[in-house]
Parts: sequence; C-alpha cells; structure tokens
Amino acid sequence: MSESCSVCGKKFSGFMSAKIVCDSTKRDFAAYGKDVSGICEKCCSSLKDNLLKEVEAQKNELAKQVEETKNALLREVSVSTTPHDHKWDDKIKGIVTGYSVIGTGPLTEITSAWTDFLGIESGSYLKKIRLGEESAISMAKFQTAQMGANFISGANISITEATRGNGMIMVSFVGTAVQIGEPITRLEDFKKIVEQQQKLENLPIIVVAETEQIYKVATASAGQRSS
Ligand SMILES: [Zn+2]
Repeated sequence: MSESCSVCGKKFSGFMSAKIVCDSTKRDFAAYGKDVSGICEKCCSSLKDNLLKEVEAQKNELAKQVEETKNALLREVSVSTTPHDHKWDDKIKGIVTGYSVIGTGPLTEITSAWTDFLGIESGSYLKKIRLGEESAISMAKFQTAQMGANFISGANISITEATRGNGMIMVSFVGTAVQIGEPITRLEDFKKIVEQQQKLENLPIIVVAETEQIYKVATASAGQRSS
C-alpha cells in the first residue's frame, strides 16, 4: 500500500497523519467506478461531494431525455375511433387502456362547461377534462408502444363520476393496439435511458468512514433518516 494520499500527498503514518478509509467506504466508491485505496479520508469526502454533484447532474439530464424520448415515442402512435381494417387482424397486439382521475371541484361547476365553451369564462372544468383525456390517451399510447404497436383502432373515451358528489371524475380510454407499417423505433432508446436511470437510482449512498465501526453507525443513522 502507498505511504501517502495520492491526492493531497499527506503521509498515512506519523503525527497528525492522514487516515485511510475502511473497506466498506472503498466498496461504496467502487460502485461509482472510483478506486480510493490510496486516497485519504479528507480527500474521499471532497471526492464524494463532487461525485454526488456529477450524479445529480446526470440524473437531471436523464430525466430530460426520458421525457423527450417518451414524447417522441408517443408521437409514433396514432389513434382512431374507427374499427381497423380486417386485413390487419393478424397484426393485433391486444387491448390497451388508459385512466385518469381528476378533481373538478363541486359538480355544480358542470354549468361552467357551457361558459367555457362559449368563451365567457376562462375555464377550469373543460380544461381539466381535456387534460384528463390527454393523460389517459398518453397512458394507452405508451402501453401500445410497449407492445411494439403503433396504432390504436376502435378508440373510445368515457367520462364518469369517480366518487359521488366529491367532484372527482374518471376519464377512461380503451382501444385495440395494432402494428401497421413501419415498427416504432424509439422503444429501444427509451428502454436504454430508463435502464441508465435505474442504475443511478441504485447507487449506494457513500459513507466516508475510517473504520467499519464508524461506517456501521453512520449507515444506521442515515437509514433512520431516510425511512
Ligand atoms: Zn488526501
């Protein structure tokens, strides 16, 4: 083993010497692809801060990519209310559904749908239902893409009161997923990005400790905080 820290150069032995970290800390860093066997405790702490910042930035970037790829994926799926051509019967992938529950406030607001329609009142009710529809359709489109299909035929939307009198409305969407023409291309991209995201989420929290004893205590209290 080296005699001094490979980052700050401080010696590991003697008066006021630098401290080496325990094996568990080394394992934490190894999960991030960093070998800290020749690095002192202090330098490990600043390395940890930098790593966590990097990972945070990567997570943000991936979240953006997930959103973009998902939107692109959904654009590849088209929806039609008419039944599909029976020539495509062998291309049916199955039923797809989407749901969305929205709060509209007291149902007396139902009257505002008309004022919304007439443009008299800028409107909550109709707008909310539209949003609910969009989200239910998106859900079904996403399911369609996951099945490797790109078309929803025979689509039907229904809107029902989810809880009586509480102003909760459920929008449900149902259709048949069919694969016609070119297969969708973005599903693999999407899967890859989500996998990367998962990997980052599964990284351990790094605990910088000199001994296994301290490591144990530190992880236990960190666990209590997060649970
Ligand atoms: Zn150092």
